[in-house]
Amino acid sequence: MILTFILSSLLPDSVIVRLFGGSSLDRVVVKRGRKTFRISASRGYLYVNGVRKRIFTLRNASITYPIKRRYKGRLIFKPKKNGVRVYNKVYLEDYLVSVVASEIGNAPLEAVKAQAVLARTFLARWGLRHGDAHACDGNHCQVYKGVYRISKVHIRAVKETRGEILTYEGRPVEVLYHASCGGWICEPKYIWKGGRKLPYFWTGEDEDCFKDTNDRYTWKVFVPLNTCPKIKRIPGTLRVYMLIVGKDTLYANDFRKRYNLPSAVFAYWCTSTGVIFIGTGRGHGTGLCQRGAIIKARRGWKYKDILEYYYKGATVVKVK
Ligand SMILES: [Zn+2]
Ligand SMILES: [Zn+2]
Repeated sequence: MILTFILSSLLPDSVIVRLFGGSSLDRVVVKRGRKTFRISASRGYLYVNGVRKRIFTLRNASITYPIKRRYKGRLIFKPKKNGVRVYNKVYLEDYLVSVVASEIGNAPLEAVKAQAVLARTFLARWGLRHGDAHACDGNHCQVYKGVYRISKVHIRAVKETRGEILTYEGRPVEVLYHASCGGWICEPKYIWKGGRKLPYFWTGEDEDCFKDTNDRYTWKVFVPLNTCPKIKRIPGTLRVYMLIVGKDTLYANDFRKRYNLPSAVFAYWCTSTGVIFIGTGRGHGTGLCQRGAIIKARRGWKYKDILEYYYKGATVVKVK
């Protein structure tokens, strides 16, 4: 009981999101009903249709510039760094519905429910990650686009997992996921320098993805390197961990980002003009594999089983 009480305090009722990745904009145009608000900032003040203000808020409004977006809850505008910083204060459940729609899209219910629990866990783990906001709206935190591409499955998944987060020994887990592991899951230490050793992450085969031969998840990339690299694979897997290119030794995850390889599960050969990589999977390969979660959901797995498969020894707890 005490534990549930402590965990429930980690979960906000409303989420404050920094929009536009947290950057300040030269100007923003917002509409509510027929009214248009042109907002800019200068020397620590906002100018809303020419009227000077310290802060400005609007309910149920749509942004029409620099991009068109509609948001539930309240939009908040503050002058920051000679520009306008835009925030959205939105009910937790509305935020989560939007995040799962962007992060996993249209998928079987149980896979979306697993994603919903992770999205909620992220908030419980980080608190106010951006100081005056819980999250930004980009990849750095969780992708959030307001009312955008939301369907019934997202609403239902959030509703049916209400108040639930994933914990290990009473703490919210580190939230990591990727699009497709290509058959091989790994621990964070193989992806990032100083990647922490957390007991629930593991390295090995994700059988469903290993057997899956969906072309969407296989790829071929040519990289014009003039030396033929050497690789180190994670023992017992086909996932590459390190690359040695000339005098440089680098993490495969950094290499793949630099040269736009979708994943680090690959084979390669060298030619006179460069290196041809052929691989499978998408993303870093640690934490929950969305492709695997989708296949497992189709095979009848429940979301708790999916989460406990990728997070060994972790438990879903209802905290609110
Ligand atoms: Zn962020
Ligand atoms: Zn997988």
